[in-house]
Amino acid sequence: MYRLLKRAFRHSRKLSLTTLLTGMVTLVILLTSSILLLGSYESKKESLTETTLRLNYVNADRMSRTMDSLFVSMRSSLKYNAGRLADIEAMAPEEVNESLDLMRSSSNFFNSITIVESSGLVRNVSPASLGTTGKHVTSSNSKEALALRKPYISSPYLTANTKRLIVFLSQPILSSAGTYLGMLSGTIYLQENNILSKIFDNGQVADTGAYYYIVDSAGHLVYHPDKQLIGKDVSSNKAVQQLIQKQSGNMPVRNTRGIDMLAGYSSVPANGWGVVVVSPVSQIHHELIGHIRILVGYSSLPFAVLLLGVILLVRKFTRPFVYLADVVSRMGKEKIEMQDSQKYWSREAYLLTDGVKLALSNIQQQTDQLTHEASTDVLTGLMNRRSLEHTIHQWMDSGVPFSVVMLDVDKFKLVNDTYGHNAGDEVLKHVVRVVVASLRPEDVCYRYGGEEFVILLARTMPAEALSVGERIRRAVEHSHAPSAGTLTVSQGIAHYPTHANDLEGLLEKADQALYLAKSSGRNKTVVAE
Ligand code: GH3
Ligand code: MG
Ligand code: MG
Repeated sequence: MYRLLKRAFRHSRKLSLTTLLTGMVTLVILLTSSILLLGSYESKKESLTETTLRLNYVNADRMSRTMDSLFVSMRSSLKYNAGRLADIEAMAPEEVNESLDLMRSSSNFFNSITIVESSGLVRNVSPASLGTTGKHVTSSNSKEALALRKPYISSPYLTANTKRLIVFLSQPILSSAGTYLGMLSGTIYLQENNILSKIFDNGQVADTGAYYYIVDSAGHLVYHPDKQLIGKDVSSNKAVQQLIQKQSGNMPVRNTRGIDMLAGYSSVPANGWGVVVVSPVSQIHHELIGHIRILVGYSSLPFAVLLLGVILLVRKFTRPFVYLADVVSRMGKEKIEMQDSQKYWSREAYLLTDGVKLALSNIQQQTDQLTHEASTDVLTGLMNRRSLEHTIHQWMDSGVPFSVVMLDVDKFKLVNDTYGHNAGDEVLKHVVRVVVASLRPEDVCYRYGGEEFVILLARTMPAEALSVGERIRRAVEHSHAPSAGTLTVSQGIAHYPTHANDLEGLLEKADQALYLAKSSGRNKTVVAE
């Protein structure tokens, strides 16, 4: 049972040649296209990454140049105005305030401008509304700038009184005698409208998802589209680390929020700050998916056409083999007529079909011959006893009434004994010729065995059979046999279904009638009782 199941299963799993080839070709096409797509994806990704990195660097560089010239201008403005304050001791405070207001409104560089005396006392402020005049500076940046007595840029820090995030640029004020009087400082409010936000807009680069930010020389954000982040230390960022080293370039980085970015960065010589332009890597993936989608869109029609073509071709190619497999599987089970109109694409299909055709015709010829031999008697050419029985069965099965005439050559042993066996054969053939010549077209004579014959007379009643038998008997009697000369036959007749319902019974009746013919003197025809 298990083995049977296994065999059935194995058989059901056998794929047809067409399915197999179609499947294989489809697989190959699919694999090839996938590999091509993958390759295209990878190379496109590489080129997009490279282009983005380069573009971001170009943008960063452009902005750093802008910022550089901006700071050069800011510095020279401070320097010029600090020079004009050499005799500040002699100037009225209102006059100084006025010149600071003018300086602030004419250039827009700074949100506020302050003059701090060398002692740290705030002498003048524009706008005056800030209200720091007369107070001492508290921030370490201011103190450092004062002590340094040199041009200075602060790092971003929160002011003590206004809680503003600022950076300031300062320039020392010297008297005409060279005495250090204090500093002139311009402040930028980092989180408010300022010169940077005016120039650098909103921090977005077109609609590519890219944005940029500015860091100071220690890696603090001084400009970022997200104002909340301004002032934050981002020196852990690899690109920022490069900027701290005053390097410019591009590289993939991970930002402080853990997002992968492609960064271009450029250092600003004038203030040691740096500009970073970044695009999220996911933006590239977006573009890549779009690219692949277009590629798939364009290639799906040709792909479908190719696949259809291949399937049709495979079917055409396998048709002769499929046909042959069918023919061979039916061989020996039924009579097969092979088509002649097959068109062959391949030499193998042609050779195979030709071979099968030849084998088939040989087999059929041999089968025909064997069938003929099995049903025919060699000496007389009549059909044999097996054929007789076969025909009788057929007629009985289909209810055909008929008569049998059983014929035996009289004293035949004597012929053999007198003239020899070969002469006896010739006499037998002669008898057959005479018998067959006396039959009606539809009657058939069989060799039953030895010198005995049976004649089947379809739809013939005993009386008519008797007249046929008598015609035969007389014909033999009046014929001239080779060697033997004169010769007679005796016959017994039986009718189906009058005398018997089965083969054995019918032949038995005919034999009994024949016996009667023999025992009552031979050369007679007797109908069964
Ligand atoms: P009866 O009138 O009683 O039929 O006498 P018979 O001699 O014909 O009877 P029997 O059956 O004794 O003899 C038949 C002979 O037929 C015996 C056998 O040698 C001979 N015989 C049978 N078949 C062949 C054959 O194919 N060729 C030859 N030459 N003789 C055959
Ligand atoms: Mg006999
Ligand atoms: Mg005999």
